[in-house]
Amino acid sequence: MSANTNWVKAIQPLLEKFKDTPHPLSYGNLYQLVVMVVLSAQDSDRNINNIAPKLFEAFPNMEALSRATPELLYPFISGVRNFGNKTKWLMELAYQVKEDNNIPVTMAELTALPGIGRKSANVIQRESGSPAEGIIVDLHVVRVAPRLGIASGTDPKKIEKQLMDILPVKDWDAGMSMSFLGREICRPQPKCEICLMNPVCSYYHETY
Ligand code: SF4
Repeated sequence: MSANTNWVKAIQPLLEKFKDTPHPLSYGNLYQLVVMVVLSAQDSDRNINNIAPKLFEAFPNMEALSRATPELLYPFISGVRNFGNKTKWLMELAYQVKEDNNIPVTMAELTALPGIGRKSANVIQRESGSPAEGIIVDLHVVRVAPRLGIASGTDPKKIEKQLMDILPVKDWDAGMSMSFLGREICRPQPKCEICLMNPVCSYYHETY
């Protein structure tokens, strides 16, 4: 980790760049967001966006989903990675939540639901405009944050903790910003020459 960088200051251009970028999951409401977040684990947002319209036509809300059976769900989500487990999680989640109005937005309540871990809960909190209780660390952030030098290691939970220790709560959207940077610029093969973070990036300074 780069000890000399003032990350509270250095992260600001990144936050600014992506502050209005919509989330890649095309959801229409909180119910759809929760379902799509569960489905998107280890799959691509694009795939989930493609299968979502027909799924939500058949299951327009939590109440409808709570009446689902595997046989009813499979035709809509069999193209999703790990759809067997995700079917079980969605059915159990809908059974517990029952109605759209009951969908929780706190970290403790969200992570108590099947199929929702910290990363998913952070996404749901962000998109629902609820106060952040953590920082999104997805596979992109696991790649980008150590390259930047703002965190180290490969464990998402430890990276999240490091980021939460360094950045004030008002800047906790940095996780999603790093995720966007990772999708667009800091790809596995990074495009450092056009990256706005290269002045403060450890990888850039070590490589060029
Ligand atoms: S300068 Fe390169 S390694 Fe650093 S964040 Fe940008 S793209 Fe990634």
